[in-house]
Amino acid sequence: MSVESLFPRLEPLLPAVQKPIQYVGGELNSSVKDWDEAQVRWALMYPDAYEVGQPNQGVQILYEILNEREGVLAERTYSVWPDLEALMREHGIPQFTVDAHRPVGAFDVFGISFSTELGYTNMLTALDLAGIPLHAADRTDDHPIVLAGGHAAFNPEPIADFLDAAVLGDGEEIVLAITEVIREWKDEGRPGGRDELLMRLARSGGVYVPRFYDVTYLPDGRIQRVAPNRPGVPWRVAKHTVMDLDQWPYPKKPLVPLAETVHERFSVEIFRGCTRGCRFCQAGMITRPVRERSITTIGSMVETGLKESGFQEVGLLSLSSADHSEIGDIAKGLADRYEGTNTSLSLPSTRVDAFNITLANEFSRGGRRSGLTFAPEGGSERMRKVINKMVSEDDLIRTVTTAYENGWRQVKLYFMCGLPTEEDEDVLAIADMARRVIRAGREATGRRDIRCTVSIGGFVPKPHTPFQWAAQCDHETVDRRLRALKDTLRRDKEYGRAIGLRYHDGEPSIIEGLLSRGDRRVGKVIQAVWEDGGRFDGWSEFFSFARWQSCAEKALEGVDLDWYTVRERDEVEVLPWDHLDAGLDREWLWQDWQDAIDETEVEDCRWTPCYDCGVCPTMDTEIQIGPTGKKLLPLTVV
Ligand code: SF4
Repeated sequence: MSVESLFPRLEPLLPAVQKPIQYVGGELNSSVKDWDEAQVRWALMYPDAYEVGQPNQGVQILYEILNEREGVLAERTYSVWPDLEALMREHGIPQFTVDAHRPVGAFDVFGISFSTELGYTNMLTALDLAGIPLHAADRTDDHPIVLAGGHAAFNPEPIADFLDAAVLGDGEEIVLAITEVIREWKDEGRPGGRDELLMRLARSGGVYVPRFYDVTYLPDGRIQRVAPNRPGVPWRVAKHTVMDLDQWPYPKKPLVPLAETVHERFSVEIFRGCTRGCRFCQAGMITRPVRERSITTIGSMVETGLKESGFQEVGLLSLSSADHSEIGDIAKGLADRYEGTNTSLSLPSTRVDAFNITLANEFSRGGRRSGLTFAPEGGSERMRKVINKMVSEDDLIRTVTTAYENGWRQVKLYFMCGLPTEEDEDVLAIADMARRVIRAGREATGRRDIRCTVSIGGFVPKPHTPFQWAAQCDHETVDRRLRALKDTLRRDKEYGRAIGLRYHDGEPSIIEGLLSRGDRRVGKVIQAVWEDGGRFDGWSEFFSFARWQSCAEKALEGVDLDWYTVRERDEVEVLPWDHLDAGLDREWLWQDWQDAIDETEVEDCRWTPCYDCGVCPTMDTEIQIGPTGKKLLPLTVV
């Protein structure tokens, strides 16, 4: 049955809303396929406004991979701003895709990519607007399969009631596998309806279907057991790992935004995974092992991507881009190739060493040397040992001195507040470090216009990391420490004016903490917040701590907000995500947590022997790094 475009009904409403262009679609490289010729149709969502969601690499990659396949169609949808939401409700217009303005409810799969848990309420808005029942249990054969992916899907338990399924890890291969399961089931005449389709997905071992698992609780509120409730459903569901990134050189045709977005550049992921072992970093832990894209594939992706999109900036993405085994040759090769053109190169890297300055110099040849960013993350030497960020203050000072000597005038430093074992003096040490940075800059250059900006984020303990057992620091303590740091810098007559300080208050981190380490009972809180008007919780102008607090009080029984956040867990406690396998050995994680408390560091297994974190044998993977020895040749003069 054909599906009509909603645009004729939507268009008259657009003059009345903010940034109407974000709903129009038709971007360069977007794709509209014939509805009737497709057997399997995906609606892909990034649950935030277009300006944040459109540049998301994960969604762009899956969109392109799916649309390249015959008989498969994929379109994108983003969160509508509250002004349009109100009008859509008034005029009965459902959640639509931006590509062909088709109703999301008509697709086979509604796939939502979560980079952050603060997008959960936006998912509920989209489901409700789409006419899809909020609870998976209330859906019929006529509704899409609601599927979550992205980093937050490594603990989908707080949204388990709203999901039909979740996938962990790299999406490239699994979206195609899911597509085939759906195609076959439809070809066979949809035997057994929705339930049978979900069983087929669950039995495949690569898709988590929450309804096929029962959770039981102990009288004190902890989980007793999570067990499959159907034969053939695996006890644990494993993440997916794409081993050869060269085989998946996406995006080939990057989408060019119509409205202003947070990133307007062509981004190439130069490797996936990170084994530096920063204990706070969920992304590093769940994406192991390191898999590099080869220098030649990177070169050809940059060339094709720029040609297809017209972008003038290339970003080399990864969790720590300067760690690519051939980054020096990549930087020089690209800088040579694009020197004298309008194309600029950027390396959003945070490694603290002088080599990074060499790279930054390559990338800014002939351009302005405005700011460089480093992430020591912890203010004191002790704190950095706890979090396994192996950077000494002397390393940092040497690095920034080189930066200032090379013409850079502004250095940005990232830190976290509220880390496990943190004391007031660890946070105040940030001020000492910033002062040393300014002093070193002034000495190296003889100039007074040296600046240092300190940005501080609140630490949130995350699943599948050594800190998954840690007590989160309460927001009052975080706020008090940050105020003390601010006062110290303000009182400093000599250096204070050269140091900028940016931080947010601690309340949103507590809610992120609730959603990150929550279990299925937290779903009631999310729904209550959404029913009370909660939207766009990642935006400070919309976020309401008081609303989350009062909804948590009303919706939770026997446990509370503090129980989920500031409570330390012991080794034997069953964690809500223990049945979801990121490959990390639980005993190794626990040992690493003990090492953190003992301030013992662990090396990077790229350069030292494997220390058995468990990922490679469990996932049948291996560290995959160069050098390949190849050069970025022949150079095409642009
Ligand atoms: S299993 Fe060994 S080599 Fe693989 S990521 Fe873990 S520590 Fe590194």
